[in-house]
Amino acid sequence: MHDILPEEQKYFQRIYNVIENIAGFYDFNKIDTPILESAELFSRGIGLATDIVGKQMFTLKTKGGDELALRPEGTAPIIRAYIEQGMVALSQPVKLWYSGPFFRYEHPQQGRFRQFWQFGFETLGEKGAVIDVQIIQIFYNILRELRLKNLTIELNTIGDSQCRPYYKKLLASFFKSREHALCSDCRRRLRENPLRILDCKEEKCHQIISQAPQIIDHLCEECHAHFK
Ligand SMILES: [Zn+2]
Ligand SMILES: [Zn+2]
Repeated sequence: MHDILPEEQKYFQRIYNVIENIAGFYDFNKIDTPILESAELFSRGIGLATDIVGKQMFTLKTKGGDELALRPEGTAPIIRAYIEQGMVALSQPVKLWYSGPFFRYEHPQQGRFRQFWQFGFETLGEKGAVIDVQIIQIFYNILRELRLKNLTIELNTIGDSQCRPYYKKLLASFFKSREHALCSDCRRRLRENPLRILDCKEEKCHQIISQAPQIIDHLCEECHAHFK
């Protein structure tokens, strides 16, 4: 964790101003959720078998015995607020953005901070692909407004509950036959959630991943149309 010194504030402020302007232009409203949430929100919401919940969450027990977590990401708390605060009854989609500190028990040697600042956009109550495109457009505009050069957008999909289970099985059997060549983290992921192997940054895993089945070839019709 680190201090943000007076001379660094102007950079934070500049980034914040750009995000706030663009969020306003696209009609997103700001939401702040607590930094502490029940740990269960993340273990149930993101899934026990993700790296975030498995290894990267800062958790603590209160005197009353509640298990809390310093929020590792922004989506689960926003879904919680959407349900708890009755936003389901508002006109949909509900378009929200957030910015603030987040916490993960990361490897500092890889240049990551355990407290980091993140902003994000969420739309709820709308299925159409257009809203996904708008979010991509927003992030592109923010980065462009901040004068980042040579931007490349990479698009992917992880399917849905209809087509993902089959793809997961395919992936698991592909990696199982090559298990000996995977790093120790990936051997664990193979048992818990083979999809996470695709995120591995280890060189030896990369070579295997490049030959793995692609989800794009195994999407159901609905997901294929949405992605297209
Ligand atoms: Zn690996
Ligand atoms: Zn699907």
